[in-house]
This record gives sequence, structure tokens and C-alpha cells, in this order.
Amino acid sequence: MASTFRSSTRTILVLGVLILCSVSSVQSWSKEGHILTCRIAQSLLEAGPAHVVENLLPDYVKGDLSALCVWPDQIRHWYKYRWTSHLHYIDTPDQACSYDYSRDCHDQHGLKDMCVDGAIQNFTSQLQHYGEGTSDRRYNMTEALLFLSHFMGDIHQPMHVGFTSDEGGNTIDLRWYRHKSNLHHVWDREIILTALKEYYDKNLDLLQEDLVKNITNGLWHDDLSSWTDCNDLIACPHKYASESIALACKWGYKGVKSGETLSEEYFNTRLPILMKRIVQGGVRLAMILNRVFSDDHAGVVAAT
Ligand SMILES: [Zn+2]
Repeated sequence: MASTFRSSTRTILVLGVLILCSVSSVQSWSKEGHILTCRIAQSLLEAGPAHVVENLLPDYVKGDLSALCVWPDQIRHWYKYRWTSHLHYIDTPDQACSYDYSRDCHDQHGLKDMCVDGAIQNFTSQLQHYGEGTSDRRYNMTEALLFLSHFMGDIHQPMHVGFTSDEGGNTIDLRWYRHKSNLHHVWDREIILTALKEYYDKNLDLLQEDLVKNITNGLWHDDLSSWTDCNDLIACPHKYASESIALACKWGYKGVKSGETLSEEYFNTRLPILMKRIVQGGVRLAMILNRVFSDDHAGVVAAT
């Protein structure tokens, strides 16, 4: 009796772990990618906007935005938030290697604006109202901040703007070095984890330091102004999505066949692309938050 109980408990535990693993592996840019994007963004906030962000976060994260940047992935299958599950990506026509808002930004039923680009526009405009002191109680500003921060990470992950029939590489099963994976997951997580293991002693802080060094006076310093160039906050995410599908074609899908093994060559050539996208996501998220919560509006926010 006791052993039956133990074995059925173990079965339940194993099933639970399997379910958790499969849920977390579907269409979600890794925890590490989101944390880095959000930490980089928060480090680039001006004083006023930084204060607003801190005020919007729940006390238990002690002012750390990155602690909640994965939240939208954790709640996407909850009944209340099921409507958000299509907002993490964009399916574009197979092999087209292009993105067109009116053609591609919809959910599987054709409902317009239900994609990661539409979501960024929606939550940016909600936060703009907050910054102007005109928000109403329909919007939860903390959630808007978390969704925007998360989706700015997702839209920069090239395979989140992928082909329709393979679900952004999710159905392209392959091996990453010696273990089973799929092409979407390679870009979501495998490349980052391998980089952490190979070069950073599995320490995310060290990787972050390296990225920040390249923003402040290294590799990407001269690119910052072009990355943050944006006349219209609502239109700019189109550009980020177009960049992603172009990179997905040029580097993600290129030469990859289902069933094969990807290792050093793929890792070495794709790592720089992925790191740049993580940083671009962070720099651009900071640009948006600095603008929607600019000092002109911060006084209004603080007074409400
Ligand atoms: Zn996501």
C-alpha cells in the first residue's frame, strides 16, 4: 500500500514537472533574455521615469523591474489572461521574409491587432495616458508596464516573428549539441544558456556587465541614436518586427533542417546577433519609458 502510494505520488510529481517543462518551452523568450532586456532598460532610465516605474512596481520586488518581466509568460494560460497568449509573437507567411502589420498582426481567428506589435502599441498608449494624468480605471498601469516590458523583449527575439506553418520554429525539432530541442527554443534559451556556461561561469551579472560595456563605450555605442530614433512611438514597433523576421530568415532558419544537430558553428555565428537583439530591446524599452514618463508628466503622476 505504502509503495503504491509512493509510486503514484512520484508519477504525479513527474507528470507535474513534465507539464511545467512543456508549458515553459512553448513560445517564450527565455527568462534570462527578458531579465537582461529589462535590467538594461531600467539602468538607462532618467530620474523622473525611473521614479514612476518604481512606484508602479509592487513593494516585494524592491524596485527591480526585471523580477517581473517574465510575468506575462507565467500567466498567459490562466483563464483571466488567456486573451494575451497570442500577443507574444507574429506569424508571417512562410518564406515571405517580410512583415506587414495589416496582413500579419492578428490572432488565429483573424482578430486584428492581436500580435506582439499591436500589444506594444496598446500598452504604450495606456502608459501615455498615465503619464499625462488622464488614465482612467479601465487600465491597470502596473500590468501595462509589465506587458510592455515583456513584449519589447519578445518582439526583438527573431523567431518570435517567424513563419506560420512551423510556429516560429517551434515545430522544427532538432538537437542542440547533445540534447533534444527545437529551433524556436534555440533562440529563446539554448544560445544564452550555452554562452553563460562557456564564457560567464553561469553568472548572468557578468554577461550583463559585458553587454552594458558595449553600450557605454564599445561595439554598439555609435548605434544607439539610430536604434532609438522614433518619431511616432505607436508606429516604431513595425520596424522592430520587420528587423526580427529579416534576422529570422538570414540567421534563424538559414540552412537549418529538422532532425539535424546544431552546435559550435551555429552557436558562434548566432550569439552576436542574439546579444545585439537583447540589448536593442532594452535600449528601446528605456526610450519608450523615458518618453511616456518624461519629467514634464512626472509631476502630474506624483501628484495623483
Ligand atoms: Zn513572451
